[in-house]
Formats: sequence, C-alpha cells, structure tokens
Amino acid sequence: MEEYNIKTKVIGVDISNDRTTYAIVDIRGNILVKEMFDTSEYPDVNNFVSELSNRIVAMIEANGGYESVRSIGVSAPSANSLTGYIENASNLPWKGSIPLAVMLRERIGLAVGLSNDAHITALGEYAFGSAHGMRNFIVVSLGVGIGSCFFSEGREHYGNQGFAGEFGHTCVEDRGRLCGCGHRGCLETYAAAKGIVMTAQEMMNALDEPTMMRSLEKLSPRTIFECCEQGDKMAIEVYRRTGYMLGIGLANYASIIDPDAIILTGGIAHAGKWLYDPTKHSFEEHIFGNMRGKVKLLLSELDDHERDVLGASVLAWSVPEYSLFI
Ligand SMILES: [Zn+2]
Repeated sequence: MEEYNIKTKVIGVDISNDRTTYAIVDIRGNILVKEMFDTSEYPDVNNFVSELSNRIVAMIEANGGYESVRSIGVSAPSANSLTGYIENASNLPWKGSIPLAVMLRERIGLAVGLSNDAHITALGEYAFGSAHGMRNFIVVSLGVGIGSCFFSEGREHYGNQGFAGEFGHTCVEDRGRLCGCGHRGCLETYAAAKGIVMTAQEMMNALDEPTMMRSLEKLSPRTIFECCEQGDKMAIEVYRRTGYMLGIGLANYASIIDPDAIILTGGIAHAGKWLYDPTKHSFEEHIFGNMRGKVKLLLSELDDHERDVLGASVLAWSVPEYSLFI
C-alpha cells in the first residue's frame, strides 16, 4: 500500500516596516514556534530574502524537518496576491516591484502565497477571530494608514486588479486635509495616526483651554489616549471628532456591503471606548435606515502580534503544494 505523508504544519510570515515575524503554525491555528527580526536592518531586499529564508529553513530543521511542513503564507504591505509581487510599497524599505513569492520559493523549496496585510488580517479574523462563521463582514485596520478587506458570501473580494478595500482613501470631507495619496479629505487624514495628531494640534492652536496634551513630549494616538484615561476633556474631544469621521466612513462602507459585522483592528483600535463610543454613535447616525442597529461594530480580540501570522498561515493552506514534478 502506498503511504501518504500528511502535512499538518505551515509557515506564517508577517512583514512590516519595523519587524518581520515568522512562525510554524499547525492546522488548528496553534503557533508552535515564533521568532522575529528587524526588517529595517535589511535595506537591500536580496539580503532580506536570504536572511528570512535561512531563518525559516533553520526553524523547520529544528522543529521536525520538512516532512510535516506544507507551504508558506506571507503578509506584507502593498503585496498583490494575484501576482505574488510587492508593488511600490510606501511602508517598506524596498522600492519598485519585488517578486517576493518566487524569491522565497526558490530559496526554501516550498510553495509560497503572498497577500497584503489587510487581506491577511481579515483571514486571521475569519479563521480564528471575531468573524468566524460569518459570510459577509468587513475588517478595518487602523494604524499608520487605514486598510480594509471585506468578505462577500464567504469569499474575500480582491477586485479587478487586487486593490479592493482602499477604505483609507475614500473621501469623507470635500476639499479637506491633504492626503499622502495626493487627494484631499481622505478618511486616513482624520482617523489614522497622523490625522489624530493633527486634530489634537489644531484644537490646541484654536482653543485656550488647558489640556495635558500641551505638556506631552510626543503627541501620538497612544499618548492622547492616556490623556483621555486621565479625564482630559480636550483629548476626549480629539477622539470624539476622530470617531465621528470614522463613523461616517464605516456607515458608507456598511451601506454598500450590508455586512453582518465590521471588525476594527490595529493599534488605534486600542483606544477602546474613547474611540469606539463616538464611532458607534456616528455610524448608527449615518448608516442607511434599514440597516440601523443591525450591523455589529466589534473590536478585534486577537493579539496584534499573532493575528497576521495566523492569517498568513490560513493563506498558506490555500496555495497548491509545491512540487518539481508538476
Ligand atoms: Zn488618500
């Protein structure tokens, strides 16, 4: 009788501007071993790929060998899952088009799937988080920028060119703040990190009221949040205005997709009730009437450092196994 080797593990990789995390994950989503290194130490992408490949091979060999590892899933900003390329990433050290999936496959000898961080985050929520069991949902990542991905009838929507979900660059204020993309009034300029800081600065300039924010060494979503926690009225108002704009954007999104839920992830989602309550209020105010009160607005419950490695592992299961003979 022929023997079949059942492969029960995959590699999940999460590449971000400052850090690259890689792990062996089993079929139930248990992270068996996880390591990381600084992405920024490798300004040349060839050196980066060599380092990552060597580390993954060493990890596989130290944890049972190739026999049980099926494939690799990779999350990266500006990655296109249809081409396997990272394309003109503004949030990575490497410029131009990089065929990352092929580069890794050739060095490691396993099939590699690549997708952008927003899609991977949604896969993580779908398989192991708040979106488990849902067929229609939206995942929004709030951080340096605003990414999103939505599932429709149980399948993620990529779009014609793989760019679907650019929620951060939808307009919420006609002729509003200038965005890095060249347009004005994008949601990102109000509800991502820099936008929140800008709102705080504008309020401090316009108002004479006292606020702890004036004495902060560094204004950031986190330090503004800490002021909220201490009852600082102006800081609370910064998040209220942020939530108001975010709620408009989310209501527009939900009115088109009609999802079961919207799940908020990313560093800024950690502002908790200071962001959540005004966002929810504005969301319910602006959403199409028939959907009011029916779309759940949830905060992710997955660990930020594990979600994308887990999501990447889900992607890994979906790519065909690599073989030299087919
Ligand atoms: Zn924009």
